[in-house]
Amino acid sequence: MTQAKIIDGKEIAIALRQKIKEEVADFVAQGYPTPGLGTVLVGENVASQTYIRMKRKASAEAGIQSFHYQLPQETTQAELEAVIAELNENPAVHGILVQLPLPEGLDENRILSLILPEKDIDGFHPVNMGSLAQKGRDSLHHPCTPSGVIYLLKETLGDLSGLNAVVLGRSNIVGVPTALLLLKENATVTICHSRTKNIPEITRQADVLVAAVGRHEMVRGDWIKPGATVIDVGINEVEDPTAKRGYRLVGDVQYEEARLVAGAITPVPGGVGPMTIAMLLENTLQAAKIQARQLSDN
Ligand code: NDP
Repeated sequence: MTQAKIIDGKEIAIALRQKIKEEVADFVAQGYPTPGLGTVLVGENVASQTYIRMKRKASAEAGIQSFHYQLPQETTQAELEAVIAELNENPAVHGILVQLPLPEGLDENRILSLILPEKDIDGFHPVNMGSLAQKGRDSLHHPCTPSGVIYLLKETLGDLSGLNAVVLGRSNIVGVPTALLLLKENATVTICHSRTKNIPEITRQADVLVAAVGRHEMVRGDWIKPGATVIDVGINEVEDPTAKRGYRLVGDVQYEEARLVAGAITPVPGGVGPMTIAMLLENTLQAAKIQARQLSDN
């Protein structure tokens, strides 16, 4: 039986990060400032600490300077807003990343909307999200994980125009921006969520299936159209006493079943995850370019 092509996000991300590193060096050699990334982490969330560490390490490897703010769990809204204002005003910082989720009691939407749109390298500012949603317009920065999904799809399929795409999940971070980006690529897009009826019937129509629900192995082999391209965004921990940490990571797709039906599929880990970090670096470089242009226009 033929098996799906594995879309190696790790390898694709390594190549992209090398290209970004060269572009950063070129940009600086032309006399522009070193691109700067401001990172903010509030509290002690272990997963968030790991993500921030990985992002800062990747930035350093690409020649991007990072400015890190580690704030205590009990940080107030006013204190966090003051940090955002400081980063907005700092000309050495071109992109700002606030690691989510924020501890309870902090107003996430307000914080994200205080970041200057040109420094909003996560693309979550309402102005950027709004522009992304409009035909004939685009945002300054596309959210990193959805950008990574599109990059992998284009590497695998080339043109996405006219394809039937189904996105499982409608979060502001993954589902909705992924659907909007697919629409910009001229795919025909359906979004499914927790109230959608007969999801397998819908996914079986998909040439491209993006799963971002956070439910381990929800998508079974018989939900997939033969030959479809499957992008599994989900990262879920499942208990595994044989694993060193006592758990292993699985996606939203039942990988072994899906591999026998799909034409191409991303593994978890090693699929979308590495692309998210590469896209963050790309967005930071683009932010530095946008701000250099703004300075020379003034
Ligand atoms: P959210 O929890 O914010 O959103 C989940 C979405 O899935 C919601 O829209 C929800 O519907 C929908 N959903 C949940 N259960 C079902 C169901 N049984 N049937 C249909 N739809 C369902 O998650 P995120 O979007 O933030 O993340 C999704 C997954 O992607 C997670 O596993 C997360 O860890 C992973 N992730 C991976 C990243 C990476 O870099 N690889 C980056 C970010 C996230 P409703 O809106 O109706 O509640």
